[in-house]
Amino acid sequence: MRILLVEDEVGLSDALVHMLKVNSYSVMAVYDGESGLFEALTGTYDAVILDVMLPKMDGISVLQQLRAEKIRTPVILLTARSSLDDRVEGLDSGADYYLTKPFATRELLACLRAVLRRPDALREDDPQFGDLVLQASQGCVSCSATGKSIRVSAKELHLLQILMAEKGNIVPKDTLLDRIWGLESSVEYNNLEVYVSFVRKKLSHIGSRVTIRSTRGLGYSVEVQP
Ligand code: CA
Repeated sequence: MRILLVEDEVGLSDALVHMLKVNSYSVMAVYDGESGLFEALTGTYDAVILDVMLPKMDGISVLQQLRAEKIRTPVILLTARSSLDDRVEGLDSGADYYLTKPFATRELLACLRAVLRRPDALREDDPQFGDLVLQASQGCVSCSATGKSIRVSAKELHLLQILMAEKGNIVPKDTLLDRIWGLESSVEYNNLEVYVSFVRKKLSHIGSRVTIRSTRGLGYSVEVQP
């Protein structure tokens, strides 16, 4: 597996290169956005680890240009910033995963394993709603009409599992917060809204007619659009 690492902090880059090599990845390290874009456009990497704050060209711009050129290589964004707006902007730009610095080595390795996992054939017992199939064991969601699939995070998966099991019935926001985040106290409605918006974008990206409907004051439900 060939990994492209775009990170301008030399110390961090060296540490990541070492860690990735120890874990049997081959790594190409570059230190600015322009070089990162040039390398990534070759399409010869299995995944790109991309810092957001970079000299010459920022990571979000690199990612946008990659996606504009139809390069679908999975991208893990590294960011020191953690505001919701930044995460939404990154996801809009086509990132597969986010890691907020500082992150644990094993967190990055888990992310890599997740983005490198290719979706296999659909299984009969995978939950379905409309044209949407949830492949929980592979951490992705597929559209049976278009054949496209996309990776989802654990919380996105959990959100879809709950909503799809309700088959269009409204699930109250409090129920979703309790079941997805448990007793993590700091979680608020706007976190849930961000996840819902992530999932909506992913469903639209794979061409599914299923979307998440918001019923003001009540909660969320899945529905099939005409
Ligand atoms: Ca940086």
